[in-house]
Parts: sequence; C-alpha cells; structure tokens
Amino acid sequence: MSLLSVQQARERILSQLSPVGTETLPLAACANRVLGADIIAADDLPLFDNSSMDGFAVRAADFSNAAPASRVTLRVVADIPAGSTPTISLSPGQAARIMTGAHMPQGADAVIPVEDTDFHDRSSGTPAPATVSIEKIVKRGDNVRPRGMDVRAGDAVLKKGNVLKPQDVGLLAMLGFPQVEVYKRPLVALLSSGDELLEAGAPLESGKIRDSNSYMLASLVESAGAEVLRLGIAKDNRESVQALIEQAVLLKADLILSSAGVSVGAFDYVKEVVEADGSLDFWRVNMRPGKPFAFGEYKGIPFIGLPGNPVSAFVGFEVFVRDTIGKLKGISDRIRKRVRVRTEEEILSDGRESYLRAIVHEENGQIIAKLTGHQGSGNLLSLVQANALLIIAAGVKCVPADQEVDAWLL
Ligand code: AMP
Ligand code: MG
Repeated sequence: MSLLSVQQARERILSQLSPVGTETLPLAACANRVLGADIIAADDLPLFDNSSMDGFAVRAADFSNAAPASRVTLRVVADIPAGSTPTISLSPGQAARIMTGAHMPQGADAVIPVEDTDFHDRSSGTPAPATVSIEKIVKRGDNVRPRGMDVRAGDAVLKKGNVLKPQDVGLLAMLGFPQVEVYKRPLVALLSSGDELLEAGAPLESGKIRDSNSYMLASLVESAGAEVLRLGIAKDNRESVQALIEQAVLLKADLILSSAGVSVGAFDYVKEVVEADGSLDFWRVNMRPGKPFAFGEYKGIPFIGLPGNPVSAFVGFEVFVRDTIGKLKGISDRIRKRVRVRTEEEILSDGRESYLRAIVHEENGQIIAKLTGHQGSGNLLSLVQANALLIIAAGVKCVPADQEVDAWLL
C-alpha cells in the first residue's frame, strides 16, 4: 500500500472523473445549480437610458449659462411614469416629470431629484406642475442610468462551471433567459457496512451500535448538491455487500460511497466485492484522521470507500468527496476555501497533514481557534461542538500558541 500525500490522492481521484452531463431547467429551478454553458447577453443592461430618481428630466444645457446659485425655471411638458414610452422630445426651457426606472425622453440628458426642486408634493396621484424651479448646478448624465452601462449585448456575463447564486439568477431573468442549461445533479449511492450496525430507530442489542455514518454522509452529500440514494446497511458478508452495490448499478448511480469495511479487518468484504467486478486501489494517505482509503470503480461507476470511524468518514468526505461531487457536477475549483485563524493554545500534531476539530470566534478582527474535546476518530461530539477544521501541514509537529494556521469554516 503506497503512502500518498493528501494532494496526490486528490489529484488521482479528480483526474479520473468527468462531469455527468447537462440538462435544461426552468430558471426558477436553477438556484445553486452549476451552469452548463457560458451565458452570452443578447441585450444591453440597462435596456434603455432611464432615470435613477423620481424627479424631472432636463437638458443640462439649460443650466450652463445660469450663474451659480441662481434659479432656473422650466416648463413641464410631460409626465413619464415607469413602464411608459415617452413620445415627446424636450426643447430648450422644457422639463418632464419622470419616475425612477422610467425611459428618458428625447432631448433630456439629466434628471433633477424632486427634492432639489420647488415641487415637493410626492403623494400618489398628484398631477405634474406646470413649471418647476431648480436652484442647483446640473451636469449632463446626472441621475441617468445609461443603456448598456452594466452589460453590452454579446458580453459573456456568466461562465460555464459557475454555481448560480441568487443574484446570478436575477441577472439571468434580467437578460430574458426563461430556462438555462445546468449540470445534472449527480446521484450518489450510499452504503454502510458492518454486522455491528443497527438502524437509528432499532432497539439496542449488546455489542451493536447505531449506523450514524449513513445519516451524516447523506447530509454531507446533499450539502454538496448531489442526490442521495440510500442503499442501507450491508452485513459483513459478500452476498449482502454485493446485493446493495448492485442496486447502485441498477439505479444508475454516478458515485458509490461506502463507509467502513475497507480496512484490513477480517470481515471487510467491500473490497472483495468491488474488486471482483471492478477495480480498487487502497491508499494510505498521509493524513489524520483517516485510515486506509479506497478508490476505484464498480462496473464503471466510481467508488470511494471512506473509513468507518465517524470523524474519519466526515474528514474524508471534506478532503476528497466534496470536490469529487463538485467535479461530477461541473465545478473545477476547490469548493471549501481556506481562511487563516490564530491558535489560542499550543497544538501538537504528529507530522501527518492533520484536520483538527476546533471552535473559532472573532476577536479584534481576528479569528481565534481552540480545539474541541476528544480528538479521537470515533469522538463525534467534538465535531458537533466544532465550527472549523484546522489544517496542520504535513511535517509540522507543534504549532505554538498565537500562531496563524489554515482552517475550513464548517
Ligand atoms: P471498520 O472500518 O469496519 O473497521 O470500522 C471502524 C470503526 O467505525 C468501528 O468502530 C465501527 O464500528 C465504526 N463504524 C463503522 N461503520 C459505522 C457507521 N455506519 N456508523 C457508525 N460507526 C461506524
Ligand atoms: Mg467493520
């Protein structure tokens, strides 16, 4: 069994996977989905020159000869609500009342907010005044949002591989896309294995424990934007493991994710079953927590075998599986971003790349981190209490107090 760095293991997995393909969905169903094609604007944004204020559209030239602080009075020749198309063209000495978002009339090149005029009545239904007086310096372009200031037709505004944020969905609507091509959500088949495992609701029996991994991993898979296919618990025998894994094939899973049963225990059948109809590599990854880790394929479906200990399974998911699902759904960047945090106390490590459970809080603009509870790979409570994983680099055995280290915020 070879010893790989975390980085080498990641690259080996990611280089063997490709995205699952795209589908076209109504825009309303696209939030958090990954764009399957670049988005090219067919229109300018804004669509037309419009007012950014409720006020009066004017010609700046009418103010250019006015002495500073002198008053200019204009004749109001039109009233332009939002949504209408002005038909008039302003001549010298004329103004039009205009609302926020309304189309600028021909001839006008600036807007004076109503607050800066002698017309203060803003209650609904008030007709426009016959004249308006302004005591202000007005420049061309004031309070006008010109056509195309944000986007020009033909611009590439969103890139293939972007996760659609709510504001992206808003922009797509602004640009008139009723449907969008996005990557399909990968289907991840999840199985637990072990004769000791009981369903969470089953009565306890001596020597048995409840299957917590499948619930935790199902939530992690969902949080990574994939669909979960729960295969259940395989017994520690070949037939049981095979029967479950075959379900993943039948239901066309894009990834099979198991926990436990891939170490060197005498009752670990997952590896046998996968190897019989596929291939499996066992890696010793230079990380903590994380016992041997398995990667391969079963009948062409990628297979990842996580350790059975709950914290190892969680960390293995964050280190390898989150970005694996990302790649399957069209994302090429790392999904979790590192931040720098400051250690409150000295932290000892063992030279492996270590992912330690910590609680962080903000103090004077810095993020301060303190390890939580028992750090053993079966101690799930300390992960429950944590809101971050500190990442201690390989080769480091001691991080002094008040030192910066990398972390993922959970
Ligand atoms: P194994 O990899 O099968 O040697 O399991 C390692 C440890 O993880 C053992 O203590 C198992 O009981 C525990 N374990 C395995 N599967 C699960 C699971 N689904 N939920 C909780 N603990 C588990
Ligand atoms: Mg086992």
